[in-house]
Amino acid sequence: MGLTEIDLHKELKKYFGFSQFKGLQEEVISNIVKGNDTFVVMPTGGGKSLCYQLPALIQEGTAIVVSPLIALMKNQVDAIRGISSENGIAHVLNSSLNKTEVKRVKDDIENGITKLLYVAPESLTKEDYVDFLRGQTISFMAVDEAHCISEWGHDFRPEYRNLRSILKRIGDNIPIIALTATATPKVQEDILKNLGIPDAKTFKASFNRPNLYYEVRPKTKNVDADIIRFVKQNEGKSGIIYCLSRKKVEELAQTLQVNGIKAVPYHAGLDAKTRSKHQDMFLMEDIDVVVATIAFGMGIDKPDVRFVIHHDIPKSIESYYQETGRAGRDGGEGHCLAFYSYKDIEKLEKFMSGKPVAEQEIGQALLQEVVAYAETSVSRRKFILHYFGEEFNEKTGEGASMDDNVRNPKKKHEAKDDLEL
Ligand code: ADP
Ligand code: MG
Repeated sequence: MGLTEIDLHKELKKYFGFSQFKGLQEEVISNIVKGNDTFVVMPTGGGKSLCYQLPALIQEGTAIVVSPLIALMKNQVDAIRGISSENGIAHVLNSSLNKTEVKRVKDDIENGITKLLYVAPESLTKEDYVDFLRGQTISFMAVDEAHCISEWGHDFRPEYRNLRSILKRIGDNIPIIALTATATPKVQEDILKNLGIPDAKTFKASFNRPNLYYEVRPKTKNVDADIIRFVKQNEGKSGIIYCLSRKKVEELAQTLQVNGIKAVPYHAGLDAKTRSKHQDMFLMEDIDVVVATIAFGMGIDKPDVRFVIHHDIPKSIESYYQETGRAGRDGGEGHCLAFYSYKDIEKLEKFMSGKPVAEQEIGQALLQEVVAYAETSVSRRKFILHYFGEEFNEKTGEGASMDDNVRNPKKKHEAKDDLEL
Protein backbone atom coordinates (compact mmCIF):
# COMPACT_ATOMS: atom_id res chain seq x y z
CA MET A 1 0.00 0.00 0.00
CA GLY A 2 1.42 3.40 -0.98
CA LEU A 3 1.72 6.04 1.71
CA THR A 4 -0.88 8.19 0.01
CA GLU A 5 -3.44 5.43 0.47
CA ILE A 6 -2.77 5.07 4.14
CA ASP A 7 -5.79 5.64 6.32
CA LEU A 8 -4.47 8.37 8.60
CA HIS A 9 -7.40 8.11 11.00
CA LYS A 10 -6.64 4.47 11.55
CA GLU A 11 -2.97 5.20 12.21
CA LEU A 12 -3.91 8.02 14.59
CA LYS A 13 -6.09 5.66 16.58
CA LYS A 14 -3.49 2.90 16.51
CA TYR A 15 -0.56 4.96 17.75
CA PHE A 16 -2.15 7.69 19.85
CA GLY A 17 -5.62 6.42 20.70
CA PHE A 18 -7.28 9.61 19.40
CA SER A 19 -10.31 9.33 17.14
CA GLN A 20 -10.11 12.86 15.72
CA PHE A 21 -7.37 15.06 14.37
CA LYS A 22 -7.06 18.43 16.01
CA GLY A 23 -7.28 21.56 13.85
CA LEU A 24 -5.10 21.29 10.76
CA GLN A 25 -3.21 18.14 11.78
CA GLU A 26 -4.62 15.90 9.06
CA GLU A 27 -3.86 18.35 6.25
CA VAL A 28 -0.36 18.87 7.63
CA ILE A 29 0.34 15.15 7.89
CA SER A 30 -0.96 14.44 4.39
CA ASN A 31 1.42 17.04 3.06
CA ILE A 32 4.36 15.58 4.97
CA VAL A 33 3.81 11.99 3.83
CA LYS A 34 3.83 13.26 0.26
CA GLY A 35 7.42 14.29 0.92
CA ASN A 36 6.83 18.05 0.78
CA ASP A 37 8.51 20.77 2.80
CA THR A 38 5.97 21.93 5.35
CA PHE A 39 5.62 24.92 7.65
CA VAL A 40 3.28 24.69 10.64
CA VAL A 41 2.26 27.73 12.67
CA MET A 42 -0.05 26.81 15.53
CA PRO A 43 -0.48 28.25 19.00
CA THR A 44 0.98 26.40 21.99
CA GLY A 45 -1.15 23.40 22.81
CA GLY A 46 -2.33 23.16 19.22
CA GLY A 47 -0.87 19.68 18.82
CA LYS A 48 2.23 20.35 16.72
CA SER A 49 4.25 17.34 17.94
CA LEU A 50 1.81 14.86 16.49
CA CYS A 51 2.19 16.55 13.09
CA TYR A 52 5.68 15.06 12.77
CA GLN A 53 5.41 12.09 15.14
CA LEU A 54 2.67 10.31 13.23
CA PRO A 55 4.34 10.62 9.79
CA ALA A 56 7.64 9.51 11.32
CA LEU A 57 6.00 6.41 12.77
CA ILE A 58 4.37 5.36 9.52
CA GLN A 59 7.15 6.23 7.08
CA GLU A 60 10.26 4.32 6.22
CA GLY A 61 13.51 5.42 7.85
CA THR A 62 14.29 7.73 10.74
CA ALA A 63 13.02 11.27 11.24
CA ILE A 64 15.48 13.72 12.78
CA VAL A 65 13.73 16.00 15.25
CA VAL A 66 15.56 19.15 16.29
CA SER A 67 14.40 20.70 19.54
CA PRO A 68 16.05 23.28 21.80
CA LEU A 69 15.54 21.74 25.24
CA ILE A 70 16.72 18.37 26.53
CA ALA A 71 13.77 18.23 28.93
CA LEU A 72 11.25 18.67 26.11
CA MET A 73 12.96 15.98 24.07
CA LYS A 74 13.01 13.52 26.97
CA ASN A 75 9.30 14.05 27.62
CA GLN A 76 8.48 13.27 24.02
CA VAL A 77 10.73 10.25 23.84
CA ASP A 78 9.14 8.82 27.00
CA ALA A 79 5.67 9.40 25.58
CA ILE A 80 6.51 7.70 22.28
CA ARG A 81 8.17 4.75 24.02
CA GLY A 82 4.97 4.40 26.02
CA ILE A 83 2.99 3.59 22.88
CA SER A 84 5.38 0.95 21.61
CA SER A 85 6.84 -2.27 22.93
CA GLU A 86 10.12 -1.28 21.29
CA ASN A 87 12.22 1.09 23.39
CA GLY A 88 14.44 1.95 20.45
CA ILE A 89 11.55 3.47 18.52
CA ALA A 90 12.66 6.90 19.79
CA HIS A 91 16.04 8.11 20.99
CA VAL A 92 17.70 11.31 22.11
CA LEU A 93 21.19 11.89 20.78
CA ASN A 94 23.12 14.29 22.96
CA SER A 95 26.57 14.93 24.33
CA SER A 96 25.85 13.25 27.66
CA LEU A 97 25.63 9.75 26.16
CA ASN A 98 28.57 7.39 26.72
CA LYS A 99 30.08 5.21 24.00
CA THR A 100 27.86 2.21 24.68
CA GLU A 101 24.74 4.35 24.61
CA VAL A 102 25.73 6.00 21.34
CA LYS A 103 26.37 2.57 19.83
CA ARG A 104 22.92 1.39 20.89
CA VAL A 105 21.33 4.43 19.21
CA LYS A 106 23.32 3.87 16.03
CA ASP A 107 22.47 0.16 15.94
CA ASP A 108 18.77 0.87 16.36
CA ILE A 109 18.84 3.41 13.52
CA GLU A 110 20.77 1.04 11.25
CA ASN A 111 18.33 -1.76 11.98
CA GLY A 112 15.38 0.42 11.07
CA ILE A 113 13.96 0.35 14.59
CA THR A 114 14.28 4.04 15.39
CA LYS A 115 11.54 6.17 13.88
CA LEU A 116 12.27 9.38 15.79
CA LEU A 117 15.73 10.66 16.60
CA TYR A 118 15.71 13.77 18.80
CA VAL A 119 18.78 15.97 18.69
CA ALA A 120 19.78 19.33 20.09
CA PRO A 121 21.11 21.56 17.30
CA GLU A 122 24.57 21.73 18.88
CA SER A 123 24.86 17.92 18.92
CA LEU A 124 24.02 17.82 15.25
CA THR A 125 27.18 19.76 14.46
CA LYS A 126 29.29 16.82 15.67
CA GLU A 127 31.24 15.44 12.72
CA ASP A 128 30.84 11.85 13.87
CA TYR A 129 27.04 12.08 14.04
CA VAL A 130 26.76 13.78 10.66
CA ASP A 131 28.98 11.12 9.05
CA PHE A 132 26.88 8.38 10.56
CA LEU A 133 23.55 9.88 9.56
CA ARG A 134 24.75 10.38 5.98
CA GLY A 135 24.59 6.63 5.43
CA GLN A 136 21.09 6.21 6.86
CA THR A 137 17.56 6.43 5.51
CA ILE A 138 16.20 9.74 6.79
CA SER A 139 12.46 10.29 6.30
CA PHE A 140 12.55 14.04 7.04
CA MET A 141 13.93 16.61 9.43
CA ALA A 142 11.48 18.30 11.80
CA VAL A 143 12.59 21.60 13.28
CA ASP A 144 10.50 22.18 16.39
CA GLU A 145 10.38 25.62 18.02
CA ALA A 146 11.64 26.92 14.68
CA HIS A 147 11.41 30.56 15.84
CA CYS A 148 14.76 29.92 17.57
CA ILE A 149 16.23 30.60 14.13
CA SER A 150 15.22 34.26 14.19
CA GLU A 151 16.60 37.20 16.09
CA TRP A 152 13.06 38.58 15.97
CA GLY A 153 11.78 35.60 17.93
CA HIS A 154 11.72 35.37 21.71
CA ASP A 155 14.34 32.65 22.02
CA PHE A 156 17.11 33.13 19.48
CA ARG A 157 19.58 30.21 19.26
CA PRO A 158 22.44 30.83 16.82
CA GLU A 159 23.04 27.07 16.34
CA TYR A 160 19.63 26.82 14.68
CA ARG A 161 21.07 28.77 11.77
CA ASN A 162 23.38 25.93 10.77
CA LEU A 163 20.62 23.37 10.29
CA ARG A 164 20.28 23.85 6.54
CA SER A 165 23.95 23.31 5.81
CA ILE A 166 24.15 20.31 8.15
CA LEU A 167 21.16 18.70 6.50
CA LYS A 168 22.79 19.16 3.12
CA ARG A 169 25.71 17.11 4.35
CA ILE A 170 23.43 14.39 5.68
CA GLY A 171 21.60 13.90 2.40
CA ASP A 172 19.90 15.36 -0.67
CA ASN A 173 16.21 16.03 -0.95
CA ILE A 174 15.39 15.41 2.68
CA PRO A 175 12.11 17.23 3.35
CA ILE A 176 11.98 19.79 6.17
CA ILE A 177 9.08 20.34 8.53
CA ALA A 178 9.34 23.55 10.53
CA LEU A 179 7.00 24.16 13.46
CA THR A 180 6.49 27.16 15.68
CA ALA A 181 3.96 28.94 17.86
CA THR A 182 5.37 32.31 16.85
CA ALA A 183 3.02 33.96 14.43
CA THR A 184 4.76 37.23 13.63
CA PRO A 185 5.30 37.65 9.90
CA LYS A 186 8.94 38.70 10.40
CA VAL A 187 9.87 35.53 12.26
CA GLN A 188 8.07 33.37 9.72
CA GLU A 189 9.97 34.99 6.87
CA ASP A 190 13.25 34.33 8.67
CA ILE A 191 12.41 30.68 9.23
CA LEU A 192 11.59 29.95 5.59
CA LYS A 193 14.60 31.85 4.36
CA ASN A 194 17.06 30.33 6.79
CA LEU A 195 15.92 26.78 6.29
CA GLY A 196 15.95 27.34 2.54
CA ILE A 197 12.33 26.25 2.05
CA PRO A 198 10.70 29.30 0.42
CA ASP A 199 8.04 27.14 -1.22
CA ALA A 200 7.09 25.12 1.84
CA LYS A 201 3.36 24.77 2.16
CA THR A 202 2.28 26.81 5.17
CA PHE A 203 -0.44 25.74 7.57
CA LYS A 204 -1.44 28.46 9.96
CA ALA A 205 -4.05 28.12 12.68
CA SER A 206 -5.80 31.06 14.29
CA PHE A 207 -4.11 32.53 17.36
CA ASN A 208 -7.30 33.84 18.85
CA ARG A 209 -7.92 32.67 22.42
CA PRO A 210 -11.56 33.66 22.86
CA ASN A 211 -11.76 32.54 26.51
CA LEU A 212 -8.97 34.83 27.69
CA TYR A 213 -9.89 38.22 29.14
CA TYR A 214 -7.25 40.90 28.51
CA GLU A 215 -6.84 43.81 30.90
CA VAL A 216 -4.18 46.47 31.49
CA ARG A 217 -4.11 48.60 34.65
CA PRO A 218 -1.85 51.50 35.45
CA LYS A 219 1.01 50.45 37.71
CA THR A 220 1.30 52.59 40.81
CA LYS A 221 3.37 52.21 43.95
CA ASN A 222 0.47 50.21 45.34
CA VAL A 223 0.81 47.51 42.74
CA ASP A 224 1.56 44.79 45.28
CA ALA A 225 -1.60 45.62 47.21
CA ASP A 226 -3.56 45.60 43.93
CA ILE A 227 -2.21 42.13 43.19
CA ILE A 228 -3.06 40.83 46.66
CA ARG A 229 -6.60 42.12 46.30
CA PHE A 230 -6.96 40.45 42.90
CA VAL A 231 -5.63 37.11 44.14
CA LYS A 232 -7.91 37.20 47.20
CA GLN A 233 -10.90 37.87 44.97
CA ASN A 234 -9.89 34.75 43.07
CA GLU A 235 -9.30 32.56 46.09
CA GLY A 236 -8.60 28.90 45.43
CA LYS A 237 -7.87 29.48 41.75
CA SER A 238 -4.50 28.76 40.18
CA GLY A 239 -2.49 31.63 38.81
CA ILE A 240 0.94 32.75 37.67
CA ILE A 241 2.45 36.15 38.43
CA TYR A 242 5.36 37.20 36.23
CA CYS A 243 8.06 39.62 37.41
CA LEU A 244 11.16 40.73 35.58
CA SER A 245 13.77 40.17 38.30
CA ARG A 246 14.55 37.30 40.64
CA LYS A 247 14.65 39.76 43.52
CA LYS A 248 11.11 40.95 42.87
CA VAL A 249 9.93 37.35 42.51
CA GLU A 250 11.29 36.53 45.99
CA GLU A 251 9.88 39.70 47.54
CA LEU A 252 6.43 39.36 46.05
CA ALA A 253 6.15 35.65 46.88
CA GLN A 254 6.93 36.53 50.46
CA THR A 255 4.48 39.42 50.56
CA LEU A 256 1.76 37.11 49.28
CA GLN A 257 2.63 34.45 51.87
CA VAL A 258 2.51 37.01 54.66
CA ASN A 259 -0.95 37.92 53.42
CA GLY A 260 -2.15 34.34 53.73
CA ILE A 261 -1.86 33.41 50.07
CA LYS A 262 -0.34 30.04 49.18
CA ALA A 263 2.44 31.18 46.87
CA VAL A 264 5.96 30.04 45.95
CA PRO A 265 8.75 31.68 43.97
CA TYR A 266 10.25 30.25 40.76
CA HIS A 267 13.31 31.54 38.92
CA ALA A 268 16.52 30.28 37.39
CA GLY A 269 18.52 31.28 40.48
CA LEU A 270 16.87 28.55 42.56
CA ASP A 271 18.49 25.12 42.53
CA ALA A 272 16.96 22.46 40.29
CA LYS A 273 15.47 20.55 43.22
CA THR A 274 13.61 23.57 44.59
CA ARG A 275 12.42 24.54 41.13
CA SER A 276 10.96 21.14 40.39
CA LYS A 277 9.44 20.96 43.90
CA HIS A 278 7.70 24.31 43.42
CA GLN A 279 6.52 23.33 39.97
CA ASP A 280 5.06 20.07 41.31
CA MET A 281 3.34 21.91 44.19
CA PHE A 282 1.65 24.08 41.60
CA LEU A 283 0.62 21.16 39.39
CA MET A 284 -0.66 19.20 42.43
CA GLU A 285 -2.47 22.29 43.74
CA ASP A 286 -0.71 22.34 47.09
CA ILE A 287 -0.27 26.01 46.35
CA ASP A 288 -2.34 28.44 44.31
CA VAL A 289 0.14 30.93 42.94
CA VAL A 290 3.59 30.78 41.38
CA VAL A 291 5.48 34.07 41.33
CA ALA A 292 8.00 33.64 38.56
CA THR A 293 10.40 35.03 36.03
CA ILE A 294 10.12 33.94 32.42
CA ALA A 295 12.07 30.82 33.43
CA PHE A 296 8.69 29.36 34.41
CA GLY A 297 6.31 28.00 31.84
CA MET A 298 8.04 26.34 28.89
CA GLY A 299 6.46 22.94 28.58
CA ILE A 300 4.22 23.32 31.62
CA ASP A 301 0.83 21.92 30.89
CA LYS A 302 -1.60 22.86 33.68
CA PRO A 303 -4.98 23.16 31.97
CA ASP A 304 -6.80 25.18 34.63
CA VAL A 305 -4.59 28.21 35.24
CA ARG A 306 -7.22 30.90 35.87
CA PHE A 307 -5.12 34.04 35.82
CA VAL A 308 -1.78 35.31 34.60
CA ILE A 309 -0.66 38.61 36.09
CA HIS A 310 2.25 40.67 34.80
CA HIS A 311 3.73 42.69 37.62
CA ASP A 312 6.14 43.99 34.97
CA ILE A 313 5.30 44.41 31.33
CA PRO A 314 7.25 41.94 29.13
CA LYS A 315 9.67 42.91 26.41
CA SER A 316 7.49 42.00 23.45
CA ILE A 317 3.90 41.26 22.44
CA GLU A 318 5.12 37.82 21.49
CA SER A 319 6.30 37.09 25.05
CA TYR A 320 3.10 38.55 26.43
CA TYR A 321 1.02 36.29 24.23
CA GLN A 322 3.05 33.17 25.16
CA GLU A 323 2.93 33.93 28.88
CA THR A 324 -0.77 34.80 29.01
CA GLY A 325 -1.38 31.77 26.82
CA ARG A 326 -0.74 29.57 29.85
CA ALA A 327 -4.14 30.64 31.23
CA GLY A 328 -7.35 28.83 30.36
CA ARG A 329 -5.86 25.97 28.37
CA ASP A 330 -8.97 23.92 29.19
CA GLY A 331 -11.15 26.50 27.48
CA GLY A 332 -12.41 27.86 30.81
CA GLU A 333 -11.95 31.31 32.27
CA GLY A 334 -8.52 32.92 31.98
CA HIS A 335 -7.89 36.46 33.22
CA CYS A 336 -4.77 38.18 31.83
CA LEU A 337 -3.93 41.27 33.82
CA ALA A 338 -0.91 43.44 33.08
CA PHE A 339 0.31 46.32 35.20
CA TYR A 340 1.86 49.01 33.07
CA SER A 341 3.96 52.08 33.75
CA TYR A 342 6.11 53.86 31.21
CA LYS A 343 8.91 53.80 33.78
CA ASP A 344 9.17 50.04 33.25
CA ILE A 345 9.70 50.61 29.54
CA GLU A 346 12.57 52.94 30.36
CA LYS A 347 14.01 50.28 32.64
CA LEU A 348 13.87 47.71 29.86
CA GLU A 349 15.55 50.17 27.49
CA LYS A 350 18.34 50.73 29.96
CA PHE A 351 18.70 47.00 30.34
CA MET A 352 19.32 46.69 26.61
CA SER A 353 21.80 49.53 26.35
CA GLY A 354 24.81 47.25 26.87
CA LYS A 355 23.90 45.05 23.94
CA PRO A 356 25.06 45.21 20.30
CA VAL A 357 23.39 47.94 18.26
CA ALA A 358 21.49 45.59 15.96
CA GLU A 359 20.01 43.80 18.95
CA GLN A 360 19.06 47.10 20.55
CA GLU A 361 17.22 48.19 17.44
CA ILE A 362 15.19 45.01 17.38
CA GLY A 363 14.54 45.32 21.10
CA GLN A 364 13.37 48.91 20.70
CA ALA A 365 10.99 48.06 17.89
CA LEU A 366 9.48 45.20 19.91
CA LEU A 367 9.11 47.43 22.98
CA GLN A 368 7.32 50.15 21.02
CA GLU A 369 4.66 47.59 20.16
CA VAL A 370 4.27 46.77 23.84
CA VAL A 371 3.77 50.46 24.61
CA ALA A 372 1.19 50.71 21.86
CA TYR A 373 -0.63 47.67 23.24
CA ALA A 374 -0.65 48.95 26.81
CA GLU A 375 -1.82 52.42 25.79
CA THR A 376 -4.37 51.47 23.16
CA SER A 377 -8.02 52.25 23.72
CA VAL A 378 -9.26 49.77 21.10
CA SER A 379 -9.83 46.02 21.32
CA ARG A 380 -6.74 44.40 22.80
CA ARG A 381 -7.56 41.11 21.10
CA LYS A 382 -7.68 42.88 17.74
CA PHE A 383 -4.34 44.48 18.51
CA ILE A 384 -2.67 41.17 19.38
CA LEU A 385 -4.09 39.33 16.39
CA HIS A 386 -3.15 42.15 14.05
CA TYR A 387 0.39 41.89 15.36
CA PHE A 388 0.32 38.25 14.28
CA GLY A 389 -0.92 39.17 10.81
CA GLU A 390 -4.48 38.04 11.53
CA GLU A 391 -7.69 39.94 10.83
CA PHE A 392 -10.16 40.27 13.70
CA ASN A 393 -13.59 41.84 13.76
CA GLU A 394 -13.90 43.55 17.14
CA LYS A 395 -17.69 43.47 17.00
CA THR A 396 -18.46 39.98 15.77
CA GLY A 397 -15.22 38.02 16.28
CA GLU A 398 -15.07 35.19 18.80
CA GLY A 399 -14.29 36.58 22.25
CA ALA A 400 -14.75 40.15 21.07
CA SER A 401 -16.14 41.39 24.37
CA MET A 402 -13.37 39.83 26.45
CA ASP A 403 -11.23 42.85 27.18
CA ASP A 404 -11.26 45.94 29.32
CA ASN A 405 -11.33 48.43 26.43
CA VAL A 406 -14.34 46.81 24.82
CA ARG A 407 -16.23 46.31 28.07
CA ASN A 408 -15.60 49.77 29.44
CA PRO A 409 -14.82 51.98 26.47
CA LYS A 410 -13.03 55.12 27.52
CA LYS A 411 -14.47 58.42 26.39
CA LYS A 412 -12.04 60.30 24.21
CA HIS A 413 -10.97 62.84 26.83
CA GLU A 414 -10.45 60.09 29.41
CA ALA A 415 -8.30 58.08 27.08
CA LYS A 416 -6.07 61.09 26.58
CA ASP A 417 -5.84 62.10 30.19
CA ASP A 418 -6.40 59.44 32.79
CA LEU A 419 -5.27 61.83 35.52
CA GLU A 420 -8.62 63.59 35.52
CA LEU A 421 -10.34 60.49 36.86
P1 ADP B 1 2.19 22.14 20.80
O1 ADP B 1 3.54 21.55 20.51
O2 ADP B 1 1.51 22.65 19.58
O3 ADP B 1 2.23 23.16 21.89
P2 ADP B 1 1.57 19.50 21.76
O4 ADP B 1 2.09 18.75 20.61
O5 ADP B 1 2.41 19.54 22.99
O6 ADP B 1 1.22 20.99 21.33
O7 ADP B 1 0.12 18.95 22.08
C1 ADP B 1 -0.69 19.52 23.06
C2 ADP B 1 -1.67 18.50 23.60
O8 ADP B 1 -2.64 18.14 22.63
C3 ADP B 1 -1.01 17.21 24.05
O9 ADP B 1 -1.49 16.89 25.33
C4 ADP B 1 -1.45 16.20 23.01
O10 ADP B 1 -1.53 14.90 23.53
C5 ADP B 1 -2.81 16.72 22.63
N1 ADP B 1 -3.24 16.30 21.27
C6 ADP B 1 -2.52 16.40 20.13
N2 ADP B 1 -3.22 15.92 19.08
C7 ADP B 1 -4.42 15.52 19.57
C8 ADP B 1 -5.59 14.94 18.97
N3 ADP B 1 -5.67 14.68 17.66
N4 ADP B 1 -6.63 14.66 19.78
C9 ADP B 1 -6.57 14.93 21.11
N5 ADP B 1 -5.51 15.47 21.73
C10 ADP B 1 -4.44 15.77 20.97
MG1 MG C 1 5.54 21.86 20.91
